[in-house]
Amino acid sequence: MTQKNQLTQEEALTLLRGNPEIMRLRAHEKRCAHSPDGTATYLVMRIVSTTNVCIANCSYCAFYRRPHDPEGYVLTQEEIFQKCDALLAAGGSLVAMEGGFHPKLKIDHYETLFYAMRERYGNALEIYGPTIVEVIFIARNSKISLEEALQRLWQAGLRWIPGGGAEILTDQWRQELSPRKYSVKEYLDGMELAQRLGYGTTATMVIGFGETWEDRLEHLEQLRALQNKTGGFKSFLLWTYQPDHTALRGSRISNEEYLKAVALSRLYLDNIPVIRASFLTQGDQGPLALTWGASDFDIVLEDKVTELAGAKIESNVEKVLNWVRGAGITPIKREPFGLS
Ligand code: SF4
Repeated sequence: MTQKNQLTQEEALTLLRGNPEIMRLRAHEKRCAHSPDGTATYLVMRIVSTTNVCIANCSYCAFYRRPHDPEGYVLTQEEIFQKCDALLAAGGSLVAMEGGFHPKLKIDHYETLFYAMRERYGNALEIYGPTIVEVIFIARNSKISLEEALQRLWQAGLRWIPGGGAEILTDQWRQELSPRKYSVKEYLDGMELAQRLGYGTTATMVIGFGETWEDRLEHLEQLRALQNKTGGFKSFLLWTYQPDHTALRGSRISNEEYLKAVALSRLYLDNIPVIRASFLTQGDQGPLALTWGASDFDIVLEDKVTELAGAKIESNVEKVLNWVRGAGITPIKREPFGLS
């Protein structure tokens, strides 16, 4: 439910039809209430895709392989450790652990992995993931409740459930893009449960599938309503669909449209403190988002899922920081968000 002084969908659509510069200035003003003007925070991370074997069949994904495909893989613990070691050596502090809906990997596989990671890295490296849709799959595949799965992963050392797997939170788009990735209600109920159990969570949206601004607003409304209720989302990240080699195909949206969507997100999600810019998909145009309402960014050293769909990763940390400085913004390194 909309709270007092929160932007309505009508007001948002009026803003979108108006002068983009007015929208940018309003979003930037709002962003500066959370984070000082002329600065932006960042951390260095990598996304480790622990397996590419997946039965979800998302039409926008160029990464997955069906079971028994000779190109299917499951990373060993040693391979994951090597990636984490390299991340730490590069000054990273966050490792996202994502994978497919692998029909043979049950809850004990993930428990063993997270116990081992905590034992090796302690708190030097924060483990970010799997996403709630993956945990729902793991729970059902293991014939246990979602609550039990989340509790067991917590015991193993997991503290964060990232917002990936949301794409566009309307049931129509979920049917279109990934019908096996659960309904809007299942996604939101799962996130709320994770928040209640103490997990830190983040929110996301992916745009560029052909959805309308009304669809995007519906997505933001779902997130804002849950945030009004729980306050559990620490940040929101918006990125763009990469169409290369996917079954869905299509084309990339312009960076101008991305920037407008960032501004819209900053204004609509007034109850989520941090809006993050996606350099992973926007490349050297990403820093512009830091003057359109975003105040934070990740430097991502690896993400196979977006790379295989056409994203070009820049893993030279200093080069990325220079993009930001070139936009007149001082980057400030941060630790992963805390849980309190
Ligand atoms: S996006 Fe994730 S869940 Fe969907 S097909 Fe790709 S690997 Fe599977």
